[in-house]
Amino acid sequence: MNDYRPAYRDVLLTLENVAARAQRPAARLLAVSKTRPPEAVAALAALGQRAFGENYVQEGAAKARALAGLDLEWHLIGHLQSNKCREAAEHFDWVQSLDRPKLVAALDRARAPAGRPLDVLVQVNVDDEARKSGCHPDDMLPLAHAVASAPNLRLRGLMSIGAPWPDFARRQASFARMRELYERLQAGFPGIDTLSMGMSEDYALAAEAGATLVRVGSLLFGPRR
Ligand SMILES: *Cc1c(COP(=O)(O)O)cnc(C)c1O
Repeated sequence: MNDYRPAYRDVLLTLENVAARAQRPAARLLAVSKTRPPEAVAALAALGQRAFGENYVQEGAAKARALAGLDLEWHLIGHLQSNKCREAAEHFDWVQSLDRPKLVAALDRARAPAGRPLDVLVQVNVDDEARKSGCHPDDMLPLAHAVASAPNLRLRGLMSIGAPWPDFARRQASFARMRELYERLQAGFPGIDTLSMGMSEDYALAAEAGATLVRVGSLLFGPRR
């Protein structure tokens, strides 16, 4: 069986060190468990990890069901199709990938029976490249307003998936731009508290730039096949 402890401790320690230098609370760690079996999730949960991220609704729902006894928090971080909103609202605690108006009504309706709002991040395509997911930065505020006025959704902040530029200065610039958008949103919605950005390669850089949640997969679980 894999020992996830050294990698897990190392990531948490890095986040604490970044926070100490910046004099901010440490960013939360979302463990990205796509393609990993429920046993791997359970092993990390045994070390104290609570929040897990999945890209596909069905895969995530199956793991959430299999591990229902562990009281974990499930985040959908992959592209969401509108015909999957019902299942997403039923099995996930957070949807980080809301990027178009159509999803607002569908998720809101689907979440009504839960009796507890779905936590939502608006996904922004900050690097504005030819890419299928994330709203244009100019559409972020109207979309945030729509989420905030849906009774069964709770607006928590923003998410971005940065372009995998080899040049880390470019990644840094895009994290900084997200932080600006986040602060602009916070001015209008004082309750929001989450800026989700950074992955295994660049989570420390994202945390330095003001991410409050980083999404780390391969560094914790090993390379994906
Ligand atoms: C897969 C994925 C991650 C984690 O990627 P790693 O490089 O394995 O850390 C983070 N965010 C999203 C949206 C992903 O799809």
